[in-house]
Amino acid sequence: MSRQRRVASLGLIAMSLLVACTSSATSPSTATSSSSSSSTSGSLPAWYSQFGNGVQVSLQGTNVVLQTKDLPDHPSPYWGVGKALYEAPQAGMQVNPNSIITQNLTFRVPLSPAVAATPSDTPLGAIGIAVNGVVFFNQYAAGRQPLTGEILSFDRYNGHPQQSGQYHYHVDPLWLTQSSESRLVGVLSDGFAVYGMLDSNGVAPADLDVCHGHVGTTPEFPTATYHYHVTAEAPYISGCFRGTAGTVG
Ligand SMILES: [Zn+2]
Ligand SMILES: [Zn+2]
Repeated sequence: MSRQRRVASLGLIAMSLLVACTSSATSPSTATSSSSSSSTSGSLPAWYSQFGNGVQVSLQGTNVVLQTKDLPDHPSPYWGVGKALYEAPQAGMQVNPNSIITQNLTFRVPLSPAVAATPSDTPLGAIGIAVNGVVFFNQYAAGRQPLTGEILSFDRYNGHPQQSGQYHYHVDPLWLTQSSESRLVGVLSDGFAVYGMLDSNGVAPADLDVCHGHVGTTPEFPTATYHYHVTAEAPYISGCFRGTAGTVG
C-alpha cells in the first residue's frame, strides 16, 4: 500500500514502539452496558443502515445510539495466532504487544448534528465509529504526541489495538476504502459523517476546514450537509469536532 508506506515513512523507529497509544478514558472495565433502548417514534436516517458487522443502531430521543464490540471484520496479526482472521504481519510492521479484545462501547451521537460556533478538540480514545464497528482515534498518541513510530505498528488495514485491546484506526481505514475512497466510512461523535479522501465526483475536496470537513452533497446527503474527509497527512480522520460531541462509554 503506497499510501501506508508514505505515511510510515514519516515515522522514526526511535520512538518507543512497545508503548501503544494511550488508553481511552472508557476502558472496558468502566464501560457501562447500555440500558435497554426504547426507540422513539422518530426515524433513523437511512445512511445508518450502512453500519454492519454487529453494530446495533437505535434511536433514543434526539440521539442515535450505536453499540459495538469493536471487532474488525478483516484479517490482522492482532487477532493472535490460531484465530480465524489471524494473518502474519506484513513486511516492516512493528507489531505492538497488544491483541484484539471484545469491547462493549456505546456511542450516543446527535440525531441532527449542528455546526458549533467554535470547533472543539477531539479527545484521546474513541472519537467515532466506522461502518464496520471499529472505533476511530484521533491523530495523537499518548500525551498528544504525534503518532510517529506508532504508525509502524499499524496492520495492513491501518488498525492496531491499544493496551486494553481496543482496536482502532487513526488514519485511512483501508479495509473500507479499498473499494472506494469516496465512500462513507463512519460517523464521529458529533454526528457528522466521515468519508474517504474523495468526494463522489472522484476529486479530493480543496475546501476542507480546520476540522477537515466541508459542506457538500454526497450520495447519502443529497442536500448539502457538513461532513468530514480522511486525509493522507495529519490529522488524517478529523482535526477537531465541528459539531457538539455526544458521549462514548
Ligand atoms: Zn493507536
Ligand atoms: Zn465532501
